[in-house]
Order: sequence, then structure tokens, then C-alpha cells
Amino acid sequence: MKREFAVIGLGRFGGSICRELSEEGMEVLAIDTQEEKVNEFKEIASHAVIADAQDEKVLKELGIRNIDHVIVAIGDNIQASILTTLMLKELGIKKITVKAQNDYHEKVLNKIGADQVVHPERDMGRRIAHSIISNNILDHLELSDDHSIVEVKAGTKMIGQNLVDLDIRANYGCNVVAIKHGKTNEINVSPMATEVIEPGDILIVIGADKDISRFEKHLV
Ligand code: ADP
Repeated sequence: MKREFAVIGLGRFGGSICRELSEEGMEVLAIDTQEEKVNEFKEIASHAVIADAQDEKVLKELGIRNIDHVIVAIGDNIQASILTTLMLKELGIKKITVKAQNDYHEKVLNKIGADQVVHPERDMGRRIAHSIISNNILDHLELSDDHSIVEVKAGTKMIGQNLVDLDIRANYGCNVVAIKHGKTNEINVSPMATEVIEPGDILIVIGADKDISRFEKHLV
């Protein structure tokens, strides 16, 4: 079943969302104030229109009310982003995702009822910082302020041992949810307790940040 989306603002972020949704076969209405941006997406999105999303009349004329999920990816113009979100909210859009430019912007968006506020530059920066600090952490996904999922390279102390030997849950309070085998490139999403860790394996671990950090310091 096709779902209907609208992407407002076709910069790097909005453009990439629009492209991906369209490639996945979704119906996408792409909106931007700049003609050249809209032309770029004419062949990609189901519909691409030049419009200023701050204009309520324009939003209504575009039939935005009938769209399930609207993504507001207006860049530096924070005022336009807030106003647009507010109007979408008043029009009763079921789900509104908005890109925040900074923490204050994020706060306002949450207050006015945006369903999902994303902060891609900050989040990507954090993920990269974690992999810079630790050579073993390949990726880091923040679940909350103090819980994460990390991808860690299996350290030499782990090689040849299985999950029972390591007893990561009892010793470190975190869980190995999957193992990527370096040799075969296969990913096992429900590793058995008897699974032996081999050189080149990557563990996907979930837990409190302090536990993950302890685990990483001792074992990896
Ligand atoms: P990014 O960081 O994602 O590249 P940009 O600032 O380059 O962000 O892109 C934001 C896009 O949003 C631009 O293409 C701009 O023309 C568009 N935009 C800005 N204000 C409005 C508005 N009121 N209505 C529709 N599109 C807008």
C-alpha cells in the first residue's frame, strides 16, 4: 500500500528523504520555494511544486490535509520552519517530522506539537565522536540520554570464547543482541549462548552508557 508523504524544503536533508521515499515506491509531494530545486525533483517525486509553505492558503490548496505524514526540512529559516509546523498542526496533519537547526529550535518544535524532531548534524556528530574516541566502536546509536546501541569490534580478549564464557550480561549489565561475522559477512540476530567469537567479528551491544563503557574498557 502506498502511503502519502509531503517533504517541505528540498535541501540536502529534505532532498535525500524525498529521494529515498520515492525510490521505496511512496507517493511524495515535494515542495520548495526555489524553482531549480523543484525542477530537480520533478522526475523523482510524484508531484513537485514551487510554493512557500508559510502560506496557509497555499498549503490548503495543495491538499496537504489529506497527507498522512509531512516532513519539514526547511533549513536556516527557523521562523519559516516554526510557522509551517504550527500551520500543519492546526490543519490536523497526523504526523509531522521536523528538522531542527539548534537546541532552542528543537524545544519550540516540541512545544508546538511536532511529532518527531530530528537533529541530523548534531546526532551524526555525536556518532562520529564516539567512533573517534574509541577505535573499537564502529557505530553508536543513542536510544535516550543514558542508553545506546553500539557496534564494537570484538577485542582480542574475546576471541575463542563464547557468550556463556564472557557472561556479558552478568558482568557488565549489557546485552549482545547480534553478531556480525567478519569472515562470512553474515549477521546473526539471535546469537546462541554457545556462539564462539572469532577474529573480525563485530558485536552489536545494547545497554546503559556507563555499562557499555565498562564493557568496552575491560573486554574490547
Ligand atoms: P540542508 O541543510 O538540508 O541542505 P538547506 O537550507 O540547504 O538545508 O535547504 C532548505 C530548503 O528549504 C531550501 O531548498 C529552501 O529553498 C527551502 N525552503 C526554505 N524556506 C521555505 C519555505 N517557506 N517553503 C518551502 N521551502 C522552503
